[in-house]
Amino acid sequence: MTDTRKVIIIGSGPAGHTAAIYAARANLKPLMFEGLVRGGIPGGQLMITNDVENYPGFPEKVTGPDLMKAFRDQSLHQGAEIRTEDVNRVDFSKRPFRVWAGDDNEEYSAETIIIATGAQAKWLGIESEHALKGRGVSACAVCDGAFFRNQDVAVVGGGDTAMEESMYLSGLCRSVALIHRREEFRASKTMQERVLKNPKIKVYYNSEVEEILDVSKGEVTGVRLRNSKTGEKTNLDVTGYFVAIGHTPNTDLFRDFLELHDNGYLKTKPGTAQTNVPGVFAAGDVQDFVYRQAVTAAGSGCMAALEAERWLAANSDH
Ligand code: NDP
Repeated sequence: MTDTRKVIIIGSGPAGHTAAIYAARANLKPLMFEGLVRGGIPGGQLMITNDVENYPGFPEKVTGPDLMKAFRDQSLHQGAEIRTEDVNRVDFSKRPFRVWAGDDNEEYSAETIIIATGAQAKWLGIESEHALKGRGVSACAVCDGAFFRNQDVAVVGGGDTAMEESMYLSGLCRSVALIHRREEFRASKTMQERVLKNPKIKVYYNSEVEEILDVSKGEVTGVRLRNSKTGEKTNLDVTGYFVAIGHTPNTDLFRDFLELHDNGYLKTKPGTAQTNVPGVFAAGDVQDFVYRQAVTAAGSGCMAALEAERWLAANSDH
């Protein structure tokens, strides 16, 4: 086992890197585990986003991977240490906290931990969806909606995210086909009402997406639906397809130690990055199911690092 660190950061999206930049500048010598492909890609969800037009500071646009490279370079420049390894196991039952990482399962310990492991969008899992990702298939309307201005798009899902994505897209697109597999939405009544009142949104109930067209053209030209009651098949002409069937927060590692919301996200004390274990902080999408933006993740990473610094000042002899 190596010496006890002041702070270990788990995760390498905007939240993790912002925490690393702040922690490094506070001389906390942060060690970040950026993950390997198994636990998600280093850099998080922006690595699967083409153009980012809503991250402040980039008047034109920046690609997701370029933005994450800049984050990573800045963390290194400020003195963070980064390991391209997955964390396999943690023990937050006593201090110092322990973390096991990498193929050789090496043990590390730290006085504080910042968790920034993010969340992953769920996909339907059909082949054409995978083939057309980034070519008209997206899991984030706020990120990619503007590329479909005045076009016809489809949204899949029946929860609050699907309602929100449909409303957002209706402000940009010519029409929105909202496709749901059942006859009733799961979303809150208020959100449903807004959607149902919106003349640009047409709902397709009892509809399953069989295929996204057209893989042979390398772009989205439509979706083929199957009505689950009648078996009838219909093709809708759309140029954008947004899947909004929920996200899965990457919290499996922490279940034994940290409190989770019913939907699986980490609980933090409102307005802070503190989890139920003093000295363990959480930032970014792993604890945020409301905003889920790169900029809000970065902001919460900053909060986590500042809180870790204050916590160390109050609780350690260093
Ligand atoms: P939810 O789990 O609430 O809803 C997922 C939806 O996707 C359901 O309608 C579900 O259908 C459908 N779905 C799931 N898997 C499939 C599949 N394989 N094929 C077709 N459809 C599928 O996820 P959300 O992301 O919408 O919301 C997550 C949480 O975040 C909720 O608690 C929500 O309230 C909250 N939220 C709050 C917001 C706000 O307050 N502004 C905004 C967004 C989210 P079915 O209903 O048949 O199960």
